[in-house]
Amino acid sequence: MRGTLYIFSGPAGVGKGTVLQQALKKLPNISYSVSCTTRAPRPGLDVEGKTYYFLSEEEFLRRIAAGDFLEYANVHGHLYGTRRDIVEEALASGTDIVLEIDVQGAFIVKKKIPEAVTVFVKPPSLDELVRRLKKRGSECREEQELRIKNAKEELLHAEEYDYVIVNDIVEDAVAEFIKIVKKHREELK
Ligand code: 5GP
Repeated sequence: MRGTLYIFSGPAGVGKGTVLQQALKKLPNISYSVSCTTRAPRPGLDVEGKTYYFLSEEEFLRRIAAGDFLEYANVHGHLYGTRRDIVEEALASGTDIVLEIDVQGAFIVKKKIPEAVTVFVKPPSLDELVRRLKKRGSECREEQELRIKNAKEELLHAEEYDYVIVNDIVEDAVAEFIKIVKKHREELK
């Protein structure tokens, strides 16, 4: 049986990466799709091939032309794309896979693969999101402003997802995602 594709979106700073990492540790037979990006690695945080594949713009454009991406989008001024080969391999071998991608990418994938399960992670409030983003401190002021502006736009699309998880307490958000995956596995039995 083919694996299930999960799409995980949410504004920068909402903590979706943390929720996903913790949930994936507790779930068997599910992998994480490492995306390609043209943004610079964050020193001490990013690891090539683990958080992202870091590409030059030239190489990214070459891969777009070669049809290597299931989807790609310009997010916060940089290119990000999902590797088609990674997703196809997982699904064909019966492994579930999660894409952590933005709203634009999520809608492209959902159109191509309607059975994909979409999950949006929301902050408890916009004020709390701004606080978390500033605390993270991994971006300069302009970058933070851009992320806040984009977050407001992304939040408008939350209700178009199959599921919305509010990340107030991380453990609860993790448990909710695990519940969603288990529910889908039960339904497919
Ligand atoms: P960051 O640079 O902070 O890791 O990610 C910025 C945004 O890009 C996040 O919203 C993240 O979900 C999104 N993103 C990461 N990888 C991809 C991808 O492959 N495709 C799309 N469309 N968005 C992505």
